Amino acid sequence: DEGKASLKIENLNFSELLKELYEAFTIVAMRKNIGFTFSAPEVIRINGDSIKLKQLFSNLIDNAIKYTPDGGGISLKVQSGKDQVTVVLKDTGIGIPSDNLPYIFDRFYRVDTSRSRLSGGVGLGLSICQWIVKAHQGTIDVKSQPHYGTTFVITLPTKLA
Ligand code: ATP
Ligand code: MG
Repeated sequence: DEGKASLKIENLNFSELLKELYEAFTIVAMRKNIGFTFSAPEVIRINGDSIKLKQLFSNLIDNAIKYTPDGGGISLKVQSGKDQVTVVLKDTGIGIPSDNLPYIFDRFYRVDTSRSRLSGGVGLGLSICQWIVKAHQGTIDVKSQPHYGTTFVITLPTKLA
C-alpha cells in the first residue's frame, strides 16, 4: 500500500535503536529532574524504516518529557512477541482529559492551548507518529488520566506484509 511504499525498509536491531534514543533523551530528562528508565531484550530484529522509527519514538519521548513536570518519571519498555514487538511508554505527567483524547492524533490539535503554549510545538508530532505506525502496519493506543499521567502502547510487526 501507499504507506509502505514510502518507507525505506531494512532489517534492524529495534532494541538498539530505542536504546540510542533513550540515551540521548536521558540528558534532556535530567535537566528537568525527570527519572527515565529503559528495559528491553538485547536484540530484537525487525524490518522497518530506521529514520522514520526514530522520528516516531523521538516525538513520543519528546512529548513525555514536555508534558511531565519536574520531578516526574518516564519508563520505556520493549517486549518481543512471536510476530510483533510492543513498546510501552509511560509518563507521570499532566495527562490528557478523556474529552480531548479522541483528537490528539489530528493534525495541529493541541489540548488546551493556554497550558501548552509555554511548551511550544504546533501539534503535528502525534499525527506524524500515527502516519509512521500505520505505514509500518502497526497500532498506537493511548490511555491517560489527568494529573496522573499517560501511557502510549505501540505495536509493530517484525515483518511487513
Ligand atoms: P509538536 O509535537 O508539533 O511539537 P505538540 O507536542 O503540541 O506539538 P503533538 O505531539 O501532536 O503536538 O501532541 C498533541 C497534543 O497532545 C499536545 O499538545 C498535548 O496537549 C497532548 N499530549 C501529547 N502527548 C502527551 C503526553 N505525554 N502527556 C500529556 N499530553 C500529551
Ligand atoms: Mg509533540
